[in-house]
Amino acid sequence: MKQDSCRRCGNELQVNRKCDICNKENQFYCDECGYETIEQIHFECMMNGLKTTSITN
Ligand SMILES: [Zn+2]
Ligand SMILES: [Zn+2]
Repeated sequence: MKQDSCRRCGNELQVNRKCDICNKENQFYCDECGYETIEQIHFECMMNGLKTTSITN
């Protein structure tokens, strides 16, 4: 699901966070009103992240 405009003011959203695993943008914010979208969790990336963490640990 792509979100490219703010739900509050309609301003264009900026990328706030990218997924650590697949590097796709998964959270956005509005620099006009400070609205932040919910971070989109990629289930597969989350599983991969857990594996990577346990190996590193
Ligand atoms: Zn991802
Ligand atoms: Zn806004």
